[in-house]
Amino acid sequence: MSDAFVELFGRRQEGTWSAPGRVNLIGEFTDYNDGYVLPTSLPMEAHASLARREDDVLRVASAQGTPGGGERVVAVRLADLRPPGHKGWAGYVLGVAWALREAGHTIGGADIRVDSEVPIGAGLSSSAALECSVALALRAAFELDLSLEQLALLAKRAENDFVGVPTGIMDQMASLLCVPGSALLLDTRSLESRQVPFALGPAGLELMVLDTRVRHELGNSAYAERRRACEVAAAEIGVPALRDVEIARMGEALARLDSEELRMRARHVITEGARVLEVVRLLEDDSVAEIGPILTAGHISLRDDFEVSSPELDVAVDSALATGALGARMVGGGFGGSAIALVRSSDSGLVERAVVEAFAAAGFAPPRVFVAAPAATKTSPD
Ligand code: ADP
Ligand code: MG
Repeated sequence: MSDAFVELFGRRQEGTWSAPGRVNLIGEFTDYNDGYVLPTSLPMEAHASLARREDDVLRVASAQGTPGGGERVVAVRLADLRPPGHKGWAGYVLGVAWALREAGHTIGGADIRVDSEVPIGAGLSSSAALECSVALALRAAFELDLSLEQLALLAKRAENDFVGVPTGIMDQMASLLCVPGSALLLDTRSLESRQVPFALGPAGLELMVLDTRVRHELGNSAYAERRRACEVAAAEIGVPALRDVEIARMGEALARLDSEELRMRARHVITEGARVLEVVRLLEDDSVAEIGPILTAGHISLRDDFEVSSPELDVAVDSALATGALGARMVGGGFGGSAIALVRSSDSGLVERAVVEAFAAAGFAPPRVFVAAPAATKTSPD
C-alpha cells in the first residue's frame, strides 16, 4: 500500500486510517422511520492513506477506482468543492472534505489514496467505510476536534448532499462506533447508541455473509418508493414516523390505512422495530443462539410485506436454513446484495457448500460466502 502511494504522489503518506464495512443484524428499513437498527462491523475495512500538502489542492485516488485499469488521480482545489459533487467514486472522498468545510472546519490540501477490502455494492456499506476512513484521516491530519458521532454525521452529509444518495445514518455510525464482540443498538431518531454483547465464539456460532453478487442498482427507485409509502402510512395513521406505532397497537394503526400495500409496508416496519428490541433482549440475556428465528422472521417480512427480496436472496436464505442455519435473512437495500446466516461453527462449511450448490442448481452466478468476525475501528495511524 505504501508503495502505491509513493508511486502515485511521489512521497510517503503520513498515516493510514481504517474504517470497516458492516452488516445489520436486524432492523431493516427502520432507519428512515426513526427506528432502531443493530449493526455489527465486518473484518473488511477501507484504508485511507494521507499526506498533507502545502497548497489547497486535494488529490485523491482509489485502488478500486477504475475497475480493471490503472489508478486515476482526481485533483480539485478545496475552494472549488461544491455539490453536485464529482461523478463516481471520487465524490465520496471529496464530499467528506466538502462537508467538513461546510461545517466550518479548516482543512488544507492533501494527497489521499484509498484501498478497501469491503465488497462494493454488496449491501455491506463500502460507501460508508470509504467516507469514514477518509473522515478519520482528515480529522487526524488537520487536528479537528470532532467526536466520532459528529464525524458520522458529516460523512452522511457527504453521501446525501455531495454524492446525492439519500441514505440514513446507520452505515456511518456503524463504521465509526462498532467495537469487536458487540453490536451497536442505534436509535436513529435520537442518535443515542449503546453496545450490546454479540460474542459468537463462546456460543460456538458464526455469522456468515452470503453475497449474491447481484448488485442493487435496481433498488434505487424501489428505495424511494418504499420510503414514500412509509411517510404516507405514518401520515394516515397520524404519527410523526412509523417508529411511533407500538406493536401492541399495530392492528388499530393498520386499520387506518386505505390500501393493502400501505398496510404491508407499515407492518414490516412496525414488526421489525419489535424484532430489534427482542434481539437486544436475548443478546443481553446471553441467549445469542435464540436470535436465529427472529432473523428469519425478519426475512419473511422483507420478502412478503416490504417486497424487497430477490430470487437469489431467497435461495441463499432458504438453502442456509435447510442446512441447519439457526436463522438467515437478507440485509441492506434489497433486490440483490447480501444475506446473513447465523450458523454453528461446525456447520459453516456445510452451509457454504449448500448455498453454492443451490445457486448453481438455480442457474445463478456463483455467490461469495464468508464468515464475518467483528473488526475494530482504528482511530490512529498504523
Ligand atoms: P454499498 O455501500 O452497499 O457497498 P453503495 O452503492 O452505497 O453500496 O456504494 C458503492 C459505491 O461506493 C461505489 O459505486 C463507489 O462509487 C463507492 N466506493 C465504495 N468503495 C470504494 C472504493 N474502495 N473505491 C472507490 N469507490 C468506492
Ligand atoms: Mg452504501
